Amino acid sequence: MTKHVYTFGGDRNEGSAKMRNLLGGKGCNLAEMAGLQIPVPPGFTVTTEVCSLYIKAGKTLPEDVKQQALDALAWLEGNRGRKLGDLENPLLLSVRSGARVSMPGMMDTVLNLGLNDQTVEGLAKASGNARFAYDSYRRFIMMFSDVVLGVHKDLFEHEIEQLKHKTGKTLDTQITAEEWKDLTVVFKAIVQRELGKPFPQDPIEQLFGGICAVFDSWDTDRAILYRQKNRIPDDWGTAVNVQTMVFGNMGDDCGTGVAFTRDPGTGEPYFYGEYLINAQGEDVVAGVRTPQPITKFQAEGSGHTSLEEAMPEAFKELLDTCNRLEAHFTDMQDLEFTIERGKLFMLQTRIGKRTALASIRIAIDMVGEGLIDSNTALGRIDPDQLNQLLAPVFDPKEKASFKNAGKLMTKGLQAGPGAAAGLIALSAEEAEELAKTGPVVLCRTETSPEDLAGMYAARGILTARGGMTSHAAVVARGMGKPCVCGASAITIDLKARTLSVEGITLNAGTDFISIDGSTGEVFAGHLSAFPSEVNQVLVEKKLKAEDSELYQRFDKIMDWSNKVRSMKVRTNADTPHDADVARAFGAQGIGLCRTEHMFFEGERIIAFREFILAKDLDGRKEALKKLLVMQREDFEGIFTAMNGLPVTVRLLDPPLHEFVPHDEAGQAEMAEVMGVSLAEVKHRVEKLHEFNPMMGHRGCRLGITYPELIRMQMRAISEAAINVGKRGIVALPEVMVPLIGTVKELSFTKVEMLDELAAVNQEQGTDFSCPIGTMIEIPRAAITADKVAQEAEFFSFGTNDLTQMGFGYSRDDSGTFLPEYVAKKILEDDPFQSLDQEGIGELVRIACEKGRSTRPNIKLGVCGEHGGDPRSVKFFHRTGLNYVSCSPYRVPIAILAAAQAVLEEKK
Ligand code: PEP
Ligand code: MG
Repeated sequence: MTKHVYTFGGDRNEGSAKMRNLLGGKGCNLAEMAGLQIPVPPGFTVTTEVCSLYIKAGKTLPEDVKQQALDALAWLEGNRGRKLGDLENPLLLSVRSGARVSMPGMMDTVLNLGLNDQTVEGLAKASGNARFAYDSYRRFIMMFSDVVLGVHKDLFEHEIEQLKHKTGKTLDTQITAEEWKDLTVVFKAIVQRELGKPFPQDPIEQLFGGICAVFDSWDTDRAILYRQKNRIPDDWGTAVNVQTMVFGNMGDDCGTGVAFTRDPGTGEPYFYGEYLINAQGEDVVAGVRTPQPITKFQAEGSGHTSLEEAMPEAFKELLDTCNRLEAHFTDMQDLEFTIERGKLFMLQTRIGKRTALASIRIAIDMVGEGLIDSNTALGRIDPDQLNQLLAPVFDPKEKASFKNAGKLMTKGLQAGPGAAAGLIALSAEEAEELAKTGPVVLCRTETSPEDLAGMYAARGILTARGGMTSHAAVVARGMGKPCVCGASAITIDLKARTLSVEGITLNAGTDFISIDGSTGEVFAGHLSAFPSEVNQVLVEKKLKAEDSELYQRFDKIMDWSNKVRSMKVRTNADTPHDADVARAFGAQGIGLCRTEHMFFEGERIIAFREFILAKDLDGRKEALKKLLVMQREDFEGIFTAMNGLPVTVRLLDPPLHEFVPHDEAGQAEMAEVMGVSLAEVKHRVEKLHEFNPMMGHRGCRLGITYPELIRMQMRAISEAAINVGKRGIVALPEVMVPLIGTVKELSFTKVEMLDELAAVNQEQGTDFSCPIGTMIEIPRAAITADKVAQEAEFFSFGTNDLTQMGFGYSRDDSGTFLPEYVAKKILEDDPFQSLDQEGIGELVRIACEKGRSTRPNIKLGVCGEHGGDPRSVKFFHRTGLNYVSCSPYRVPIAILAAAQAVLEEKK
């Protein structure tokens, strides 16, 4: 017979912390504490397996589970010397949820179970405290009705408010036994009225009702959403813990509270918590009364009395117990306790949730204290949390007051972390103009490469459309700029020059807007933001490393990670500035330099448009001569910044129509600058129009139709490398061809490239050479990678396009359906954010295997956005890639994830 129920505490402690999957976090830790002789009210746990059985059986409890629960109850009654439903001295129970990982506040709890019209009298007599007994009974009716019977608690709260109003009392503690007693009559009448049947009086019926309700709460909307957000599988289920009640509401020598062994906000090593005298647990959580600080230190200057002062002995025991538990579990603990007539009971201990700052500080402090080693510390930090160390932040108090004042306009995608506030600019030009006098947020329906200068000028970027790999998001992350994308509630009216959501309209140029790219929030008005200390030390160089504890901690994490990881981390950077930033963050090279970004600014766009408008090869060559000068200069800058480190340069990739204006005014301006007619410009733009540009004339196809273009690029790269070499700079370019599907596209392109390279060497009397490789971003290239590797000296996986082409989902348009796919569990994640390991990952794996079969030492890297996503980084490590490449501000995240990949592999 399967064992479904495990007892804990007293003389039969059947569980331990090792049984988390079966007993849930709360259940296994209660057993563990009992095993350590820590005072825990005894009880029993119905396993997580029963949750699945219960759901499968159409939400009924199997008979053998019921029987085992009754047996455990009989043991508990014997142990306590009290019986459930006893008229003289009744045993009362709490029924609480407890999944494998904590889901705070997501599931239900019932306290004081076992009370009815008779047992409440017994409790009053046995405790000698009628007020306490009726307070407990009214709590029970309310909670049981809300959680088990589905009668909303507001109906009961309303009656409590009426009572207080009538009696002129403001606090629960002022209400007398008689008043609570009368209220229980009113409460029962509410249940009768709402359900057409009386409040259940049978304690066993109450017990099974409570257990079923907790299982039911596994499937409430909020629990489902929480699981989705936290990647908790639906089939894990929750356990149910049935535990002897101890009472914090029996008088002024009683109380209840929560405590953390360290500050969960900052990580400081101070005991921290809150408690209430004469109260039950839900009073602390529900905010009915304002809890008091636990320690004298915390209470200082607040006018509150700490537990340390109010009940010094219980406090000391609590502190000792908490210290023991932290040392035992070797992590910061979040605990619940109750003091009943001066005696301490522990109701729960679990690993405490904490902010990013606290997480890092605690991990490092614990290494210093000898509690854990540095590898364990690395495993405890969520790589994504490093973002919060690097990004600018809003003042949290000010943010809360903005929310209260109704200034939160909407929430979009968290596309680029960090906080930015500034005047609203609706175009790139406006952003550049306004940025001359103060901070600006560039707000666009969507951005295009033409907005680049405006994006540089702006503090942050907000778009109404577009997903996480939209242009705005990719470029903003590259720049380390806060960005909120796809805030679809926003309407931008370019004529009226307004930006609005329902109820709020802001004016461009005069009104401020604040965006938090770490949360996706958009606020009307100006919130104050500060650059992170890490940024001030490494990038702005305004703060000394020794003056910033935060920086020192960051540096320690990086140092430990670097010692562990085997995969290299490069960056995606197109400018010397981005390259400098990434290098400061630890990048070991550039994995993707998108050359098109060099074509947009100022003079360059004019020269490139000349290339596009040229009628023949000679005309195109003329334009390219101008571009060569500028591009060579750009590469010199980048090679200098990356002195001694590899720089993977990608030949031009986007379709040409991205370089021409599509509105009449822009076209007229272009015609004037170029000295041609508007009609001619229009005609050319029309000719460039494609129905499906992402699958049109782009990538290597450009170089095949215009070989002179890639020849110019190859010349710029090699001349730049030779030029800086003369100044003692070690330039290590690696040149790659984008978007090939067949090896012949690569071999054709390579002939042109090598020919140009030979010409340069001959002119200069040099023998410069560099590896030539390809991006793998079309499924056909992946599955024919053995052939591709005959020509390619390295592969760089463009997983953005590989995902787009592999799934057939447009990168730019998938925002309309992907969120629903994730919500409906058709996909676990947005595959543009976290690699689809099963499908697209398999293409990567096949390509690696086939590539190596032809060229055993072929260098393999990834430069799609997934290179900065921790889960994807771990996959790339397991697949044997040599490096990942990501935007500069994600370099530290990838470094930590690469180290964790090694540590996880060792487990
Ligand atoms: C990719 O496709 O993954 C890639 C890096 O190229 P881009 O995003 O520029 O298309
Ligand atoms: Mg691509």
